[in-house]
Amino acid sequence: MSETAPDCIFCKIVAGEVPADVLGRNDHAVSIKDLNPQAPFHALVISADHHDNAAASAAADPASVGHLVSLADEVAKASGNDDYRLIANTGAGAGQTVFHTHLHVLGGSSRMTETLV
Ligand code: 5GP
Ligand code: ZN
Repeated sequence: MSETAPDCIFCKIVAGEVPADVLGRNDHAVSIKDLNPQAPFHALVISADHHDNAAASAAADPASVGHLVSLADEVAKASGNDDYRLIANTGAGAGQTVFHTHLHVLGGSSRMTETLV
């Protein structure tokens, strides 16, 4: 049984109630194009179940986060981005605006070679 939260935009996208450009999916996640891309390739990988962030998903089901990473790799490579960056903003102070677990998949930019960490 999947878990959802009322008025959560990503729950609505997962359910198909809000349209999105879907890049791929598996049993645990859906990948879409980000509405406001920050790189030439900017996808989101959204968990099928509603949890506030990646750590909460991992606490509920450790394998679920692995399925997100697998789908991220699949959509990045399918779009020609063998090299890419994954970001999971966690908390408003880190820039999280949608409190439903998702990964950002960023590729195709020279900024990918800039060192953040
Ligand atoms: P966060 O800031 O929470 O890490 O990332 C949320 C991301 O979701 C942002 O990059 C934002 O552009 C994207 N986003 C928010 N609402 C929508 C939407 O309705 N459709 C799509 N495709 N992306 C969205
Ligand atoms: Zn949700």
